[in-house]
Amino acid sequence: MTVTAEREKALLESVPTGLLIDGEWRDASSGKTFDVKDPATGKVIASLQDANSDDAMAAFEAAVAAQADWARTPAQERADILRRAYDLINERAEDFALLMTLEMGKPLAEARGEVVYGNGFLRWFSEEATRHYGRTMIMPDGKLRMQVHHKPVGPSLLITPWNFPLAMATRKVGPAVAAGCTMVLKAAKLTPLTTQLFAQVMLEAGLPKGVLNVVSGSSASAISGPILEDPRLRKVSFTGSTPVGVRLMQDAAKNVLRSSMELGGNAPLIVFEDADMDKAVDGAFAAKLRNMGEACTAANRFLVHESVAEEFTRRFVERLEALKPLRGTDPESTLGPIVDEGARDDIHALIEEAVAAGGEILTGGHKIEGDGYFYAPTALKVGKDNPILKKEIFGPVAPIVTFSTEEEAIQMANDTEYGLASYVFTEDNARMHRVTEQIDFGIVGYNVGVVSNPAAPFGGVKQSGLGREGGAEGIAEYTTVQYIGIEDPFAGR
Ligand code: NAD
Repeated sequence: MTVTAEREKALLESVPTGLLIDGEWRDASSGKTFDVKDPATGKVIASLQDANSDDAMAAFEAAVAAQADWARTPAQERADILRRAYDLINERAEDFALLMTLEMGKPLAEARGEVVYGNGFLRWFSEEATRHYGRTMIMPDGKLRMQVHHKPVGPSLLITPWNFPLAMATRKVGPAVAAGCTMVLKAAKLTPLTTQLFAQVMLEAGLPKGVLNVVSGSSASAISGPILEDPRLRKVSFTGSTPVGVRLMQDAAKNVLRSSMELGGNAPLIVFEDADMDKAVDGAFAAKLRNMGEACTAANRFLVHESVAEEFTRRFVERLEALKPLRGTDPESTLGPIVDEGARDDIHALIEEAVAAGGEILTGGHKIEGDGYFYAPTALKVGKDNPILKKEIFGPVAPIVTFSTEEEAIQMANDTEYGLASYVFTEDNARMHRVTEQIDFGIVGYNVGVVSNPAAPFGGVKQSGLGREGGAEGIAEYTTVQYIGIEDPFAGR
């Protein structure tokens, strides 16, 4: 059933539009607002208070003031808050899904999937909160006794991108709350609404004031700049593009900040000659089209053995051509718009460059005329040196290139400065192990196209970033280790 305009209006009106500072929704000190658009129509759907540096610092002061009490709050209480928030989001799952579709564009069915995935981080970290053990030991030389325990790292700055508005926030806020950190969260200006609703749910779940402060605005650096300068900040966690991550790491270096960086990707998807073609086509389709290809884990280069390239390409192109690019609220929609006009222009420019370098468009390759920022699902046949293989595409575009040997596939897969996700399709288990041991990626999907899961350590190597989110590793990013050397109880006897 198509969502009614009244339902959309009522939901949008229920989203707080202020800055969350010290447990209260406040107006921006400048009195300014910024607009949020629906990428399927290009129309403004909401206006939010526009935080400047003064607001950012007010939010940070609240986080600093709340830190000591929050760190002493028993882990079980922190866990209970996360679990209550998880239950509340489940109750309002349709609201969260629709809000993401409205501000980001993904089809409702996909947005519902993100609610399950994103909310899973709250459940996972509510469970991890009470299980982050330390250790004790008698030193090997028999002298000191060692006690090691974990403390919250302290006030944290969390910066999220626009592509997964709920999951990117819960993946940071979940472990920070579990560990006992207070925080300032800055969402992407294109998609701040889901974060606003999420923050309201965290308050309803009983999160004490000052623990989570949310400031979004039209100038990212006006918000992050002064906070990063302050020596009381102990951690920055960023998900976004590599150039911005590099700049933030440079700023973070001044105060030797703990930094987690989830940056860009350029995922290879390798189809060997012995792959099960049904699994390969399904996996390739999921790895490319999830989130309209606007995912750091999106398959970005399709490396296909020359003997199966024709069959793979024919079947994959058929799947692309069956997609229905429609506004995400339409029940028929299987492909939403690109997030904004600039991003769509960037995708088109990459294709033009690929074609100029000898690439052949097999399907798509053009903008879709009409409302919003839709782009036709595209497949291209390219040579090994085509420049598109070096770029993060961030759209529904699949460059396909052939290889002839396992060694060549490995070399091609590693030929990138990125190292986040990768996908390997083969029915030969030994080959899977050989290949995964030789490719430099933080994540490998073996005969599957979607691997994200709250229980798994998500993150990359090389210029894809530092640190891991999710899994047992996720909470460790928000804690620091303290070692107590205890006197030898037998000393002097
Ligand atoms: P982006 O780097 O433009 O922005 C990400 C966030 O950083 C936004 O909140 C933005 O407002 C903020 N930002 C931008 N400039 C800033 C500055 N100078 N100081 C402080 N904050 C600043 O990225 P994007 O376009 O929102 O997201 C797409 C990118 O994110 C892609 O490269 C994608 O691969 C990456 N991404 C990575 C992961 C991962 O887990 N590795 C997940 C999702 C997205």
